[in-house]
Amino acid sequence: MGFFKKNKKEEFQTKWEIKKECLEFILECAKSSYPNEFGGLLRVDSINKHTIIETVILPGTVSGETHAIFRFNMLPIDFSIVGTAHSHPSVSFHPSDADLLLFRKYGKLHIVVAYPYTLSSWKAYDYNGKEINVSIL
Ligand SMILES: [Zn+2]
Repeated sequence: MGFFKKNKKEEFQTKWEIKKECLEFILECAKSSYPNEFGGLLRVDSINKHTIIETVILPGTVSGETHAIFRFNMLPIDFSIVGTAHSHPSVSFHPSDADLLLFRKYGKLHIVVAYPYTLSSWKAYDYNGKEINVSIL
């Protein structure tokens, strides 16, 4: 656990924000992928590094019936990417075991959106699956 100590403190002090149109884009993608899952990456602003401004859809992202699969070998080396977003074809936005493995592997902020994909059916998590507060801009 000592390995995570520094990050934990940093995230505790971090105030994350997401542009409303970016969140709406994720919700739209989730809706149109339903009943399959949608997966994408979250990009922050180059100056406001805790403000998510864009969702990047990975080439080769597999949207399957069970879980969105991110191809880690396709991930760009891009420091403006802070984490992932994906949808659940159910009303649960709780991360699954597979989600937690993904969260721990990559990024510091992860958004899960759940059916019916409205502005109140999503949550954000840190690398450890702990809920994070993200304000909508
Ligand atoms: Zn999931």
